[in-house]
Amino acid sequence: MKGIGVSPGISIGRAFVIKKTEPALTGILLKNEAEILLEIERFDLAVSHAADEIESIKANTVLQDEELSLLETQIELLTDPQIKADVIEKIESDKKNANDALIEVIGNFVQLFENMDDEYMRARSADIKDIGSRILNHLDGQGQGKVNTYKFAPDTIVIAEDISPSDTLTMDIKHVTGFATQAGSKTSHTTIIAKSKGIPAVVSCGNALATVVNNDVVILDAINGIVYINPSQEIIDDYTIKRAAYRERTDKLKALKDVLAITRDGKRITLSANISGADDMEDVFYNGGDGVGLLRTELLFMDRDSFPTEDEQFEFYKSIALRSKNKPVIVRTIDIGGDKHLPYFNLPAELNPFLGYRAIRICLDRKDLFITQLKAILRASVFGDLKIMFPMISNVQEIKSAKSIVAEAKAELLNDNIVFNADIKIGIMIEIPSAAITADILAQEVDFFSIGTNDLCQYTLAVDRMNEKISHLYDPFNPGVLRLINNVIEQGHKHNIHVGMCGEMASDPIATLLLLGMGLNDFSMNAASIPTIKNIIVNNSITKARNIYKNVMEMNSSEKIIAYLQEAAQ
Ligand code: PEP
Ligand code: MG
Repeated sequence: MKGIGVSPGISIGRAFVIKKTEPALTGILLKNEAEILLEIERFDLAVSHAADEIESIKANTVLQDEELSLLETQIELLTDPQIKADVIEKIESDKKNANDALIEVIGNFVQLFENMDDEYMRARSADIKDIGSRILNHLDGQGQGKVNTYKFAPDTIVIAEDISPSDTLTMDIKHVTGFATQAGSKTSHTTIIAKSKGIPAVVSCGNALATVVNNDVVILDAINGIVYINPSQEIIDDYTIKRAAYRERTDKLKALKDVLAITRDGKRITLSANISGADDMEDVFYNGGDGVGLLRTELLFMDRDSFPTEDEQFEFYKSIALRSKNKPVIVRTIDIGGDKHLPYFNLPAELNPFLGYRAIRICLDRKDLFITQLKAILRASVFGDLKIMFPMISNVQEIKSAKSIVAEAKAELLNDNIVFNADIKIGIMIEIPSAAITADILAQEVDFFSIGTNDLCQYTLAVDRMNEKISHLYDPFNPGVLRLINNVIEQGHKHNIHVGMCGEMASDPIATLLLLGMGLNDFSMNAASIPTIKNIIVNNSITKARNIYKNVMEMNSSEKIIAYLQEAAQ
């Protein structure tokens, strides 16, 4: 079965299937005022018992951050005045008993959340369902029960339609080595808890999972999102070897999660993540990231029929700021054009789209679009440490023009008495050779650089990054590309500005020591690569990296450079 691997790892074990029955309506109506009052009292009592129960879990369990925030969400929902008002309304006006009233109200709320666009909010419907069953259990006089009383045998893989927040908290998971669920998403509770406990999980496996029965042999490949049921001995043997290798590797990396990326000779390096939405924030912190080095805002503009409004954009940036724990988040203004098309924005066909009307060039031409995005980012800047970054800058005039539009956006907000961070930092991507060569000039205009090696490499080498036929020529270790990168870092630091890298090269383990040797101290990459790069940083020194850098800069071909770096990485 194919699902989504959300908490990586490999497990081999026996299935324990959790089947949940949906609460059934009784249809019993209340007869008189006295029964109505009694029913409201019974509901209030059940809510207060449910609250006591959560408090007692909080007091008696050692909880991780994620688990604590899960319980806090539950307490918030328990005291939600709307849920309470709706239930009482159904008891009073429709004469429903408390069980039926609650089931209906929770059903409505669940539906409301399940229809939301935001994946994170959709996943919150599980919280509401869960709080509903918690109150219902108390209404029935049973208290919370069932799942936390399960006894799991060693090497159990829990199979379920979905696992509720309370179940993940209260079940005795000492022997649980994996979760596979029919439903779920990257931000559902099974995911959050499985990740925080380091238990492999595959979610969204679909209905096929319903055929699994207790004690089936299960292999969970949560790296590739695959679940095997009763596989052959050959597959089991193969995965036994893979599991051992994976465990050895990850045990080493896991230990680094809360360790700062500091080299052996004491240099602190920042390791941030490249993300494209609020849902990715969980992965940043799960992997021990220091913030967001690149928020690609294009996703917000895709999969829709028209440009997002200022308010819609504001909500998007705000939700990311709120989840950023006040760590820096670099928001890159829209980088459409090239290979990124918007169906509702009719761009004329171009002979060379990668050299054409794209990114900052569109923004400077279509000031209306640009200023809308800038105002939205500025408004969200009071909710976190947001910074603005312009893509595809090729000369100093573009920076000046873009900055003057930022000033206009600020003036409009000021005029409307809307708060924003007046001191917001402004930087640029260095991804066009002319920008890399003139880094000394551009550095005087901005607060930071971020090197985009994906484009820098394609433009320097004249190799289309999308063209399979010439992919062997796409080579970030070409001495020409390396000299440009080196110049950017050198000039940036000479002018006292931050220099980071957010292109794919930042996550290439072969490149880490070379970049450290060049003086790069800010790497941004897909969140999952952070532990691997951190491992290299904490086990090496700047002195060694400087040496490697000096040797590399004297080499005349990328073959030699790559062979040398591969050996140095051993
Ligand atoms: C880059 O060009 O290196 C970069 C990070 O931007 P993108 O891949 O979005 O073009
Ligand atoms: Mg780019």
